[in-house]
Amino acid sequence: MTSVPHRRVALSLLAHPDDAEILCAGTLIRLAAAGWEIHIATVASGDCGSATLGREEIAAIRRQEGAAAAERIGATYHCLDEPDVKVVFDRPTIEKVYHLMRRVAPTLLFTHARHDYMLDHEVVHLLGRAGAFAYSIPNASSVPLVPGSAIPWLYYCDPVEGRDPYTQEAARPTTMVDISGQIERKCEMLACHASQREWLRSHHGMDEYLEAMMRFSAERGRQFGVPFAEAFVQHRGHPFPQDDVLATVLSATNVVGA
Ligand SMILES: [Zn+2]
Repeated sequence: MTSVPHRRVALSLLAHPDDAEILCAGTLIRLAAAGWEIHIATVASGDCGSATLGREEIAAIRRQEGAAAAERIGATYHCLDEPDVKVVFDRPTIEKVYHLMRRVAPTLLFTHARHDYMLDHEVVHLLGRAGAFAYSIPNASSVPLVPGSAIPWLYYCDPVEGRDPYTQEAARPTTMVDISGQIERKCEMLACHASQREWLRSHHGMDEYLEAMMRFSAERGRQFGVPFAEAFVQHRGHPFPQDDVLATVLSATNVVGA
């Protein structure tokens, strides 16, 4: 059984400014084109993303870069301003996530994979999963409930480089989204993060920032038989929506059968 929610609001809740542009921006672009309202949120501000600038200075730059990337697709950027490499699963941070989700009231949520290359990502996985389960419970937050708030469809993005860092096995997606028509705009969004791109460019001597994203999108595309793709694992635990809404809305390929 498939269904399309009446309220069409998608939120990516990821750790750092640029994670959405690397992991799921192609899918967000397609959702925006299909009439969905898009929100891009980062739990951390990116305050460790420089070897030369101070925390406040680089965080301000990275918030601006995140907002500029979101603006390119008419999305709204939110930052929960937690510090890089210190994201924790504690009550104040959980409450920040609930409050954000109460205001946005997403019916579709993207967050990090359970296992990823760094712990900020794994902690945000927990925060996203907690928020998806609980944000619409009346007493979970003091922020007023938006009509239509409900447990959203929940998808986990690929871990960085598509590998489980413990086993080195490739992550096995449930859902593949063809982003061949969106790869150019995905690159433009990622290029908004100039501070990170320049850092890697000076370090690697090549445009590794965009190249790595393109390489991985192409690798997922090859598995799917298209030039570029993004892959996701749908959360199907009780009591989450069970049908693959990305397959319904974007004609994404459901790998495991809805
Ligand atoms: Zn990250």
